Amino acid sequence: MVMAGPCAVESKEQMFASADAVVAAGAAMLRGGAYKPRTSPKSFQGLGPMGLQLLDEASARTGLPVVTEVLDPRDVERVAQHAAMLQVGSRNMQNFPLLREVGRQRLPVLLKRGAAATVDELLFAAEYITNEGNGNVILCERGIRSFDTATRYVLDLAVVPLLRERSDLPIVVDPSHGTGRASLVRPMALAAAAAGADGLLIEVHAEPHKALCDGMQALLPTDFAQMMVDLRRLLPMLGRRLVRPGVSGHGASANGTISDEFIAP
Ligand code: PEP
Ligand code: MN
Repeated sequence: MVMAGPCAVESKEQMFASADAVVAAGAAMLRGGAYKPRTSPKSFQGLGPMGLQLLDEASARTGLPVVTEVLDPRDVERVAQHAAMLQVGSRNMQNFPLLREVGRQRLPVLLKRGAAATVDELLFAAEYITNEGNGNVILCERGIRSFDTATRYVLDLAVVPLLRERSDLPIVVDPSHGTGRASLVRPMALAAAAAGADGLLIEVHAEPHKALCDGMQALLPTDFAQMMVDLRRLLPMLGRRLVRPGVSGHGASANGTISDEFIAP
């Protein structure tokens, strides 16, 4: 399953341009942050409730269910009204009150590995969610911090088969944050698929040079479309297939059945 869209919801025009591009190329879910965890408090923090509204409109326009980040336990119920899947970002992987709160929801939760978190810590974080009754947790590798700054993070693809040995939860790879460079996203997306990932989280922006957040790693719509073509060629060799858009609509995912689609061969 490919989930794609901009890093942040910036405006109606920007969100629609990205949403139109990713649905046309065959993405199955739409991403975009209304609440952004930024390193500097001076950076764009997201449009908040207005961003959630624009996600609703982009979802209605494309028919794609939305995955979006929630930063604050107090916002979980509000964000859940606009999302088919809740994202817990890497910075919040061990925010235990937030993990418990999303664990009380019925929506699937995309749990991103902390930039300095071990595999054990990721799996324990997932347990905080499942312990509250929400078993629909999707683990996401998004790169870890190393001594080398040649790439933004180091994308740890070995964890895909490793997590498969240690857990039944679906596994998603985010090569956008994992590399921080648009030119590296397609090769690492293909490598993640070859390693057995159930899903990919990809940042796409129609005008990356104007992006308010993470423009360096955003794919242009044409490059995203090429990545999808290559994935469609690769997956059958591995006995797998892409989940088509619309397979898991709003209703299906709201019922928490989206993880079946991840697991389907
Ligand atoms: C994101 O998905 O835009 C994001 C902020 O990711 P991460 O939490 O992995 O940095
Ligand atoms: Mn981002």
